[in-house]
Amino acid sequence: MSSNVAVPQPRDATHAAPVRSAPAAVQTKAHIEVRDVVAAYGEKVAVHGVSVTVADDEHLSLLGPSGCGKSTLLRCIAGLETPVSGEIVIDGEVVFSSARGINLPPEKRRLSMVFQSYAIWPHMTVFENVAYGLRVQRVRGQELRDRVHTALKMVGMEELAQRPATALSGGQQQRVALARAYAPSPKAILLDEPLSNLDARLRSQMRDDLKDLQKRTKLSTIYVTHDQEEAMAMSDRIIVMRQGRIEQEAKPLVIYERPRTRFVADFIGAANVLSGTLVSADPAGPVIRVGSTEMRCAPVAEIPPPTDGGHLIAIRTVYPELLPAGTPGAVNQWPATVASRILLGDIVRYGVEFAGGSLHVQTTPKTLVEQGGEVTLSIPPEHVVLLAG
Ligand code: ADP
Ligand code: MG
Repeated sequence: MSSNVAVPQPRDATHAAPVRSAPAAVQTKAHIEVRDVVAAYGEKVAVHGVSVTVADDEHLSLLGPSGCGKSTLLRCIAGLETPVSGEIVIDGEVVFSSARGINLPPEKRRLSMVFQSYAIWPHMTVFENVAYGLRVQRVRGQELRDRVHTALKMVGMEELAQRPATALSGGQQQRVALARAYAPSPKAILLDEPLSNLDARLRSQMRDDLKDLQKRTKLSTIYVTHDQEEAMAMSDRIIVMRQGRIEQEAKPLVIYERPRTRFVADFIGAANVLSGTLVSADPAGPVIRVGSTEMRCAPVAEIPPPTDGGHLIAIRTVYPELLPAGTPGAVNQWPATVASRILLGDIVRYGVEFAGGSLHVQTTPKTLVEQGGEVTLSIPPEHVVLLAG
């Protein structure tokens, strides 16, 4: 660890040890474990029996469209909402269990939360905002000053410690909110769309800074966002949610390259979704009849059942290649016509027609093809993903 990483660690010896020996303690390797949590607002069920685990120091994202239950789930973990049923374990301690009637209040869970609205206290200085949580923990004197300055330094705000919180820009306020969240050595940090109120340029700057902060601090985090780029950039693992349920859970690249469902293929990145009928059910490379041709897919663990519209396959727009017309044949290679072309600068968008139908293709301007041009369309089978519905 380099010397500038003076960040208080979650299991700082100066604080009470986690309650491992309490009667409610369970053996678990997961740092946070959510088991079968159902949450509702009156009749409206917002989370339908979701289970999630977060490992020590893991950075997990909950990603999904507005209203899919991300905030509700996060607030259940924080103790700000009470689930209807299920169990939540943090660092070996059961903090919620409907079966056992356990429901620890938020302050006993030792988690820090950062919201979209910075929610820093306007009547206090930057220093006092960050000191607040430490004072609650009865940290005083030199230790208090040191830890506040460490946290402020971590977010590049140590120069502004004495400034009133109202005299800060949005980006600075969110930095203070982050420092305040990290300062009391929480067991985990929960972030709910923390960058959504910032303008685009600042957002991408803060995203990089936050990622850097995560790397330096070694703290489990759950990051809620509807922004796929943020989730891809920030996380070790992404949970894609839809209508209160988990749609897919995997590392970012797997979510991108192997979307499980049409919803994930559409929500993350840009993909073509084609439908067809199964010709060969060889899991090592299933073949689907699409339009008037056959297409070989990437290997699958098992062939999913067809949807009403047949078997669906996803092809990310960046993977098909446009080769010169007449390129000698190989697997998944067809004569094709460029029906449309839009030059956007760094990328070029093509509409391509071939025996399987129409396809959107994105390339760089390195090799340009004219509208109306004849090409050979080549789609490596590993980039043809058979979807489960
Ligand atoms: P997300 O954070 O993914 O946008 P939420 O967890 O905020 O989703 O909301 C999930 C569902 O619960 C939505 O249908 C939303 O309208 C509903 N909901 C959220 N908060 C409340 C509330 N306080 N009262 C009633 N319904 C709510
Ligand atoms: Mg939300």
